[in-house]
Amino acid sequence: MIERSLHEMAQALAGKEISSVELTGLYLERIARHNPLLNAFLTVDAERSLAQARQADERLARGEQTALTGIPIAHKDIFCARDWRTTCGSKMLGNFVSPYDASVIERFQAAGAVLLGKTNMDEFAMGSSNETSFYGPVRNPWDSTCVPGGSSGGSAAAVAARLSPAATGTDTGGSIRQPAALCGLSGMKPTYGVISRYGMIAFASSLDQAGPLARSAADCALLLNTMAGFDERDSTSLDRPPEDYTRELASDGGTQPLRGIRIGLPEEFFAGGCDQEVMQLVEQAIAEYRKLGAETVVLSLPNMRLSVAAYYVIAPAEASSNLARFDGVRYGYRAPEYDDLNEMYSRTRAQGFGAEVKRRILIGTYVLSHGYYDAYYRQAQRIRRLIAQDFAAAFRQCDVIVGPTSPSTAFKLGEKAADPVQMYLSDIYTIAVNLAGLPGLSIPCGFARGLPAGLQLIGNYFSEAKLLNVAHRYQQVTHWHQARPDAFA
Ligand code: GLN
Repeated sequence: MIERSLHEMAQALAGKEISSVELTGLYLERIARHNPLLNAFLTVDAERSLAQARQADERLARGEQTALTGIPIAHKDIFCARDWRTTCGSKMLGNFVSPYDASVIERFQAAGAVLLGKTNMDEFAMGSSNETSFYGPVRNPWDSTCVPGGSSGGSAAAVAARLSPAATGTDTGGSIRQPAALCGLSGMKPTYGVISRYGMIAFASSLDQAGPLARSAADCALLLNTMAGFDERDSTSLDRPPEDYTRELASDGGTQPLRGIRIGLPEEFFAGGCDQEVMQLVEQAIAEYRKLGAETVVLSLPNMRLSVAAYYVIAPAEASSNLARFDGVRYGYRAPEYDDLNEMYSRTRAQGFGAEVKRRILIGTYVLSHGYYDAYYRQAQRIRRLIAQDFAAAFRQCDVIVGPTSPSTAFKLGEKAADPVQMYLSDIYTIAVNLAGLPGLSIPCGFARGLPAGLQLIGNYFSEAKLLNVAHRYQQVTHWHQARPDAFA
């Protein structure tokens, strides 16, 4: 059962081969067995999940199910879920029980999916390894001495170890795609504005976007159908007609289903700096795409080299503003001892935030301050515009851009923790996509020294259905996405 696609699970539920209570129980049991090692889940509440599963079974009995009714889904602990502890990986929200549901959670509830638990993450989604979580690091199911990537590392580890059929994540600079790559999964960040950010704890509001983490592109398409949609409670949510993101997957394209698709290969992605074995796997995947009928075009994204620098001005600037609300007054942690109001604020924030979050708040406050705003923040915004223009030019020459997702496979726990710049470079191939607001997807393309490598596909605005189809065609002729780490049979 745990190897079935979401669509097959839905069929098994509809055909009474298994009930949602049994399916949920199966995953809860796997979580109980494996989570002590992996630390992928921060909160599990078996009784509440099983109660939802019973409701789903009643809905199935009435024949009123959707494509996800009765299927357990794990959610990154950045999404507020009513009456569930929602920590965002921080001590600051260690005791915060949300009084309301995020839009994403609401949509899964309305579809009848079962909330399986809340997953571990880097504190306030700041990180690439899950090591900044106040609740301890997550381990990679492929090698428990390695990181799962971040910041959606708990979601990625949970799905890779088959502790959940699928999960949600968020991606500000790569946090869905990079953990998907490091854990052998398929993960998508949609076009900015496609999924509502309402109830998703804000890190850098102009970059944050939710998305699915699953075993295949087809599963991602099903999840996106539930997650996407206009929401008036998010002022950046896009009011567009609903789409069926699975619509291109079913058609039989013959032996060359990607004939007519032009794949852009940016020089900058292939210029060195990437692990050689990972690069070989990416090259092999490109060769596979040629067999599927796609043409390749070499092109350039000349300003991409500035993306990490621009991101580490813009993201901290927005974070310093967003995180001002954690002041010990309204919710969350408050320092136990203080003499006056100022001391209450400063002790609360000194004690409640971890080192990486403080570093970002300091950088952000600095780049926004009088006298530095023009030198840093305004300059970074200009670079952001140039990067978006590079992509616009590239998409006049191609339909999809392809390259590596991450410059390496999963690294060892502790390996980069002491060196923030090395950690920041983990997102060198993913960050430009967020700056431009484009959709991006990572899919597994093989193994280097026993660890999964990711292939990144980037599309033009609103090309999610096409991107998912391009990923799906590759998955129809390869088996990398079906591999499972041995220890989690
Ligand atoms: N690793 C990047 C950072 O630390 C991106 C994180 C994310 O996408 N949430 O900011």
